[in-house]
Amino acid sequence: MPAHPHFPHLFEPLDLGFTRLKNRILMGSMHTGLEDDKGELNRLAAYFAERARGGVGLMVTGGIAPNRQGWLAPFSAKLTRQSEMRQHRVVTAAVHAEDSKICLQILHAGRYGVHPLLVAPSPLRAPISPFKPWAMSRRLIRATIDDFAQTAALAREAGYDGVEIMGSEGYLINQFIAPRTNQRRDDWGGSFDNRIRFPLAILRAIREKTGPDFILIFRLSMLDLVENGSTWEEVTALAKAIEQAGANLINTGIGWHEARVPTIASMVPRGAYAWLTGKLKTEVQVPLIATNRINTPEKAEAILAAGQADMVSMARPFLADPDFARKAFEGRATEINTCIACNQACLDHIFARKEASCLVNPRSCRETALPAATARAPQPARLAVVGAGPAGLSCATELAALGHEVHLFEAAAEIGGQFNLAKRVPGKSDYAETVRYFAKKIETTGVHLHLNTRATAEQLIGGGFREVVLATGIAPRTPAIEGIGHSKVLSYVELLQGAPVGEKVAIIGAGGIGFDVAVFLTEPAAAAGRPLEAYQAEWGIDPDYRQRGGLTQAQPEASPRQVWLLQRSKGKIGERLGKTTGWAHRLTLKHRGVQMWAEVQYQRIDDEGLHLIANGQPQVLPVDQVIVCAGQDPLRALQAPLEQAGLRTHLIGGAQLAAELDAKRAIEEGLLTALAISGLR
Ligand code: NAP
Ligand code: SF4
Repeated sequence: MPAHPHFPHLFEPLDLGFTRLKNRILMGSMHTGLEDDKGELNRLAAYFAERARGGVGLMVTGGIAPNRQGWLAPFSAKLTRQSEMRQHRVVTAAVHAEDSKICLQILHAGRYGVHPLLVAPSPLRAPISPFKPWAMSRRLIRATIDDFAQTAALAREAGYDGVEIMGSEGYLINQFIAPRTNQRRDDWGGSFDNRIRFPLAILRAIREKTGPDFILIFRLSMLDLVENGSTWEEVTALAKAIEQAGANLINTGIGWHEARVPTIASMVPRGAYAWLTGKLKTEVQVPLIATNRINTPEKAEAILAAGQADMVSMARPFLADPDFARKAFEGRATEINTCIACNQACLDHIFARKEASCLVNPRSCRETALPAATARAPQPARLAVVGAGPAGLSCATELAALGHEVHLFEAAAEIGGQFNLAKRVPGKSDYAETVRYFAKKIETTGVHLHLNTRATAEQLIGGGFREVVLATGIAPRTPAIEGIGHSKVLSYVELLQGAPVGEKVAIIGAGGIGFDVAVFLTEPAAAAGRPLEAYQAEWGIDPDYRQRGGLTQAQPEASPRQVWLLQRSKGKIGERLGKTTGWAHRLTLKHRGVQMWAEVQYQRIDDEGLHLIANGQPQVLPVDQVIVCAGQDPLRALQAPLEQAGLRTHLIGGAQLAAELDAKRAIEEGLLTALAISGLR
């Protein structure tokens, strides 16, 4: 077959000897909550089938425990019995019917389990779990190795093409490997050879039980990012031993869950860890898989072309777009709905014990609950959508895809709404990809776009529309503080649109936007041209790996400004930010010396600065600017006249509920409203 014209490396098959993968795209393991269904796994099957149809070469399930002690949470998914095995057959059959392959990930949580049965090599509580683990007896270690092999054998019986052994991210196997968590004095601890005995024994036991023609992937922690983790020499030696023990692929694992370094959040540069996989490439022959923050086919191709890896793993990008691979293959990469690394609907949901979905693709994980993207409205109509922010874009493009004649009115000269502000925040440039995706979808679905057009009630009433969707958004709130009209006061919109600011700045309001503004104001200028080096320096990641775990003293570049981030309410600043990213945003601001004050009372703003009471003391912050990030008010003036004229309206996004202006809700409301208007919900 001739090489692919745009992505020759990405679409080159990979021959594993006994089997061939049709391309170099691995859909990485990602817990969605669908694995935990009791009874039938039909929803999980539909989820994977859609991604298989989308052209993925090989996929890996979310983590499945080999026994009850290995559970992540009580009663989470495990595979230990014939009855559980039979449930998985629907998943493998669905994937094979779409000409793809699938491996089951075996994950033993060890001390990361959130239940009282948890076990670990040594009885050391993880900083992220409320439970102290029981130290494993030698007998239990041997039984656990057997359990891994038994689960792999059941996976094979269920039709899986292989298994991935989760040996990274700080889970049980990783806990054996690293001295940080393995303080045993028997054959399973102490020396390096003893610490790696457990993973190697598991690999050999699985190979013995499943035979030579079964894909074995080992997810190896190549950089622990915790103190007393592995050295690079140990990583290399273990990789060689894994190769010897018969693994077919080694996948890259980065950072333990307890590490205080963001490894997949939006502030992590794209492909930030491919260099590490590339470093191991020179040491082993077994094919290696690169991971972390790879979200475009161009980035994936570049990593493969540079020889840094043999395959590329992406997990969240397949929540964002199940057709990622097919679109890239067919030369339609500009139609890909790109993952923006927000974690808001995937990982944040999982940590809150809710099923995952995706902020930019609310269909994700609801494959059986919502009509397919190819559904058509039984009674197409002429419809208007007012506002081309995330809510309006989602609704208009869904309506057009359903077969309606859709007119989208936008007062600004471009589509995107609040995303055009978000994309200017350092670390959020991927938000521009969502705007690009919708621009393309407007084109492919045939939405009639009217830019620079502030739709009036008369125009809408006389326009022959059956219904009107109002996605008119918000206006930034102006708090009633004396001097709020002073020339040093700016709204966050003015700031992000380029208004000049001085060296001392106060931010009123510490919600998501207050944080974004603080990051924007404190971004070191030097970070612009060399994002990877700046990220490594800011978080103390040592590419030279001079200490165990690969950490070094963080050396963040100095902030160009002195910034105060303020809120009136009690409690920790940033408490309401996303569970999986909030800590990283707080740490970023701490590194940059931002003063974060809660329980303040604003008094007035004048030439001297911002007068307030903080810690019970009146004081003046001698600031050049005060940036207002005090929430929003809805803009919905069109609703009343349209309703009075008998025109049916739907309010969505910020216009519906400004208090929780939220892109996740906006895009989802756009989709659900489009389905409801079409009589499909
Ligand atoms: P927000 O989260 O509601 O925060 C508004 C802030 O303004 C609060 O800190 C509030 O704190 C303060 N405030 C409210 N009324 C005020 C008044 N009259 N005077 C002075 N201060 C006042 O709103 P946002 O920051 O505009 O964010 C909106 C939404 O955008 C969020 O809900 C989030 O979903 C989304 N977003 C998320 C992220 C993210 O990182 N995930 C980033 C950006 C935006 P006090 O009342 O305590 O002073
Ligand atoms: Fe990516 Fe955000 Fe969707 Fe998760 S919710 S898959 S991070 S875009």
